[in-house]
Amino acid sequence: KKPRARKRLPVIPQGIEQTRFFVAIDEISTEIGDNKVEINDKQLDDGWYMEPPNTHDGMAITDEEELVSSAVIYPGSTDDVQKVVRWANKYLIPLHPISMGRNFGYGGAAPRVRGAVVVDLGKRMNKILDINPDDCTCLVEPGVSYFALYEEVQKRGYKNLWIDVPDLGGGSVLGNALDHGVGYTPYGDHWATHCGLEVVMPTGEIVRTGMGALPGNNTWQVFPYGFGPFLDGMFSQSNYGIVTKMGFGLMPNPGGHESFLYTFKNEEDLEQLVEIVRPLRIAMILENAANIRHALQVLALSGKPRSAFYDGNGPFPTKIMHEFLQTHPYGECTWLYYGTCYGPKEVRKLKLDIIHREFMKIPRARRIDPEKLPPTDYFWTRDRISIGKPDLEDLSWVNWWPNGAHVAFSPVAPTRGADALSLWHMAKEQWAKLGLDFFFDFVVGLRELHLIVECVYDRDDPKQRANALEAMRSLIKEAADKGYGEYRTHLLLCDQVAGTYSWNDHALMKLNEKLKDCLDPNGILAPGRSGIWPARYRGRGWEI
Ligand code: ADP
Repeated sequence: KKPRARKRLPVIPQGIEQTRFFVAIDEISTEIGDNKVEINDKQLDDGWYMEPPNTHDGMAITDEEELVSSAVIYPGSTDDVQKVVRWANKYLIPLHPISMGRNFGYGGAAPRVRGAVVVDLGKRMNKILDINPDDCTCLVEPGVSYFALYEEVQKRGYKNLWIDVPDLGGGSVLGNALDHGVGYTPYGDHWATHCGLEVVMPTGEIVRTGMGALPGNNTWQVFPYGFGPFLDGMFSQSNYGIVTKMGFGLMPNPGGHESFLYTFKNEEDLEQLVEIVRPLRIAMILENAANIRHALQVLALSGKPRSAFYDGNGPFPTKIMHEFLQTHPYGECTWLYYGTCYGPKEVRKLKLDIIHREFMKIPRARRIDPEKLPPTDYFWTRDRISIGKPDLEDLSWVNWWPNGAHVAFSPVAPTRGADALSLWHMAKEQWAKLGLDFFFDFVVGLRELHLIVECVYDRDDPKQRANALEAMRSLIKEAADKGYGEYRTHLLLCDQVAGTYSWNDHALMKLNEKLKDCLDPNGILAPGRSGIWPARYRGRGWEI
């Protein structure tokens, strides 16, 4: 018999008395179904990637009780979502919508406001509403994961369709796009490939954007703009609505692919490499959002913990990294470029030859022959991801520390050597002070690099958590002083990051707040998301 989970007291959101809160919970349970509402009164369980908690952040970076929900509601339809929103307005209860809650490294499923009610859309609203093999489009609900979409495309036998997946395939297609996530086929910019939204507004109305506003249309997923202002952007990384449907363009199968890997010996090679990459990428000779990775991650991807390589404190010694790599098929190196070319063999060859010629201009650059790599090598994970096959291998580097969790510093820079080097030096300096390691991945967008610096820490060690958070704060500040901003951040760092986008006396945030107050007068939807606080919360000590 399974032991019953130990009980703990639920956290009631501020501003409502306990008895009234439970009256409210009874009311919504009656309205959408008793077993569709759960009070968060069990011992918190971090679960794991495939079973992420919807009660808190499974990779907490502060005490895990700091960012917890009071309850979770499972709507089964857009109509249910409307009911939940109207209920929250009646009782002034903050809501936190999630799709699948796998936003690991950025706060997971946790609400920013302690005791907010999590609206878990993914559990029951998980239908693939349409896959159109002629237009190469799809329409999905929040609970559709990359795995589910991939499997459905295969099941229906649509050999002409590819999907685009991020490093880990368990997350929500819709949720990832809303948070500006990326993948690695030429359709890697997920927000850019979306087409059409259905949104429940914070006051309960339903809106369809683009062609979706036209009754009887057959163009919702093929033309994004419709007529009038293009409002979609305002529902991404925001708290202006709950997205219940989202359309996407799907990439046609290009008729073949070939992944490649180059290694570069020295730290400073980064500058020349990025200068070589820029014109090739903008001209689409380098076709996918590729990874320029620091080689330390190769050690972490071996599945062995840090302690198997080195037991000391401080940054992981470069010498040990190089020694290990000498025994690895990649050989001694500092940077790796994982990329993929698409199309039939003749088409690929033209591009691969140019890439080879350009990359080999860097002294001691090497092309790694994939034929010589074992099938278990991480190269094949990148190969699968670059053709839109969902994968989970990228989970393994999180075990670098026991109870491994991660938090990311994710600045954006132009694809220029000097900028890449400047961000690398800045982060490396923090790394030297930290006592924890950083994993570096420059994701080459088109004209820009998203640098993802992942800091892995032991989530049960308060000192490591505090150090990791402090390092993120220092990096955000230093980057902003140099003119770099983050494209995405952890829940607890939203205020700081939003504060760096301060041109003209914070004009952008003033506009965001004006919109928030107009669209969500009671301030019930995801208060604090992306640093946007509704009037009811502003200036009352919530901003950090
Ligand atoms: P995933 O499981 O794909 O990583 P999440 O469900 O954790 O994504 O979503 C990431 C973030 O995006 C959430 O924390 C939430 O703020 C926001 N979000 C997710 N789904 C929705 C939605 N359907 N409507 C509005 N905001 C959403």
